[in-house]
Amino acid sequence: MGIRVEGIHFLVTYRCTYACDHCFVWGSPEAEGTMTLAQLTSVIDQAAACGVESVYFEGGEPTLAYPIVLAAAKHARERGLDWGMVSNCFWATSVEDAKVWLAPFVDLGISDLSLSSYAYFVEDADEDRLRSAALAAQELGLPMAVLEVGAAACLDVPGLRLGEDVGAIMCRGRAAVELAPGRAARPPETLTTCPFEDFAAPGRAHLGCDGELQLCQGISAGNVFAGGPAGAGAPGAGGLAAVLEGYDPTRRPVVAEIVAGGPWALAQAYGHTPRRALYADECHLCYEVRSAFRERFPSVLAPAQCYGLTAEQAAGPPEDQPA
Ligand code: SF4
Repeated sequence: MGIRVEGIHFLVTYRCTYACDHCFVWGSPEAEGTMTLAQLTSVIDQAAACGVESVYFEGGEPTLAYPIVLAAAKHARERGLDWGMVSNCFWATSVEDAKVWLAPFVDLGISDLSLSSYAYFVEDADEDRLRSAALAAQELGLPMAVLEVGAAACLDVPGLRLGEDVGAIMCRGRAAVELAPGRAARPPETLTTCPFEDFAAPGRAHLGCDGELQLCQGISAGNVFAGGPAGAGAPGAGGLAAVLEGYDPTRRPVVAEIVAGGPWALAQAYGHTPRRALYADECHLCYEVRSAFRERFPSVLAPAQCYGLTAEQAAGPPEDQPA
């Protein structure tokens, strides 16, 4: 069948200065896994050849790899791709300092700078940094929006463009564990669609250092790095083009069941008995079922990071040790 995507969103690093309750990819200060520049430029080259139009640098917190992001953004522009970035603004200690961080983005022609507010989720989140970053971006004339502003609309930045509200949060990853139980109100048998992702025409996909091309966090269409080391002139056995061409949502395990009948159908197909009477949303049940069956479909239910596991934890104990 095969698909095309318009955007690749790089999970540049799973490391973050925060460990927010709503994080889909379990980002934290302790998280491991950062993309190399060689991986990024290799995928950018492949993406341009596959008709991808834009790349985003996300995480985790992508500015923890700031010079690598700048170099990769330059490479993307040279390949004719638009680029954007999502950041939590931890670096914006003042408006003047924030301008120093953001100034290179002007020449690199950033298309979209999304700034995150975490006041709703992180008790001691410093909204002054978000405000400094927003003001600096405005002064530099950067295209910018603030995400998740439900609790931070008091930023008092004139003309601020607001992005997604916290009310739209979906219960995937850490959110399914930390936030969903307090919001549960729907019986599992009513969760018969996937309202948030189009697996036949996904539009964008996420990709981190593990190479998994994710159509939803933790659901891989295939591994772009499989078959060889990516980036050093050897982008793997087929790389991105092979993954996109070989993907068929009607035949790929897990994806096919979700497309046919949502997370309830997924649970039914694999004999999963829901552990709760009520769920917050489709993603809440979906994440529970997928977590339970991750080891049965390791090439689809990947990367392990999106299930709150390190690569070592996912691999299990050495063979001579008990589980
Ligand atoms: S229902 Fe499942 S596949 Fe659909 S968006 Fe939610 S977590 Fe992703």
